[in-house]
Amino acid sequence: MLRGKQMKSSKDGGASKPPKPQTGLVTSGRDTTAQKGFINPPVVRGSTVLYPTAEDLHAHRGEFQYGRHGTPTTKALQDALMTLEGPNCAGVGLAPSGVAAITTTLLGVLKAGDHLLVIDNAYRPTRNFCDGFLKRYGVETTYFDPLIGAGIESHFKSNTRAIVVEAPGSQSFEMSDIPAIAAVAHRKHALVIDDNTWATPLYHRSLDQGVDVSIQAATKYIGGHSDIMFGTISANAKAWPLIAESIRLLGVCAGPDDVFLALRGLRTLSVRLAHHQQSGLDLAKWLANRPEVLRVLHPALGSDPGHAIWKRDFTGATGLFSVVLKPVAQKSVDAMLDAVKLFGMGYSWGGFESLVIPFDCSTYRSATKWNPGGPTLRFHIGLEDVDDLKADLEGGFAALRAAS
Ligand SMILES: *Cc1c(COP(=O)(O)O)cnc(C)c1O
Repeated sequence: MLRGKQMKSSKDGGASKPPKPQTGLVTSGRDTTAQKGFINPPVVRGSTVLYPTAEDLHAHRGEFQYGRHGTPTTKALQDALMTLEGPNCAGVGLAPSGVAAITTTLLGVLKAGDHLLVIDNAYRPTRNFCDGFLKRYGVETTYFDPLIGAGIESHFKSNTRAIVVEAPGSQSFEMSDIPAIAAVAHRKHALVIDDNTWATPLYHRSLDQGVDVSIQAATKYIGGHSDIMFGTISANAKAWPLIAESIRLLGVCAGPDDVFLALRGLRTLSVRLAHHQQSGLDLAKWLANRPEVLRVLHPALGSDPGHAIWKRDFTGATGLFSVVLKPVAQKSVDAMLDAVKLFGMGYSWGGFESLVIPFDCSTYRSATKWNPGGPTLRFHIGLEDVDDLKADLEGGFAALRAAS
């Protein structure tokens, strides 16, 4: 919501078309009157909320009732995320990490005796939660091939309650046909949960494509500066009551500084992602032409097997992709990793800095085999100059060749 002067001037401009998502990222979640003219909301630290009268207390009257349930700071972020997710979003929950957003969602939609379908390239801690915690609580999980599409139907049981998808996989980058999977799921009365962290709602409006619950590890691109742990859960009208109840019963909430930083990150999401996209594609193409590289796994490349689905369902690509190197000893790969200066080695991603990690998904797959044909590296392309990044990688490849 935008109140005060800015709204008036936008009306004066005669804007009749709904604003683009990029505009919404700037204008949404800003109640400048309540903020006494300041652009940003205050960081409200609060547990107790006082009621002015006994009558108000008895009636639970008031926009805010208790710190865990929300503050003006959380409301500003939730309003902005609602705008970004689009008209199918009925509510947004905030969680202290991406993993907490996933586990809160699964606990909200499942019960003992239910069956859950999970995509085989899901974020590894999601699998760990299903195989450990959910199994102990009587929920059975079946993993499925990311390329299954409408063939998902054959995995359904009478007690299948939900499906977890993630596209592309955050290491192996297969693209799933989410609308095809969602169409089957809805016929079978199952809920579709999408870990939409790679694309963000700016580049993939999950809730417009049959997804019921769209999750962000906001630790990544929404935060954007590698300085918070944060998760968001956006749900449509069918799923929101289950999510809201789970958040309430589990006591899930996020710290006020992180809420503020997530909102601040959201304001610049579109310019950061545009840069990640452009530099990422530039480097993906450059890497594809390197003699040391067997293949690049990036759905926005025309040659990628998932390209058609990406083009149909997504409006952009971000800065995370993988490469398969031609077969070479691990010590040569390590020489490359040690030689690069601008690419840090570390998990998480989505910040301003470039990163590289070696990975091996074969250890945590069960429905499909991961056989890439050479050592694999995942890159996150940050906001540095691309020519500097290429020069750094040249040095890395020289070290790889020297060690081979
Ligand atoms: C990082 C990540 C998560 C988990 O987020 P945290 O904030 O680190 O808990 C979940 N899903 C994907 C795809 C991720 O990359």
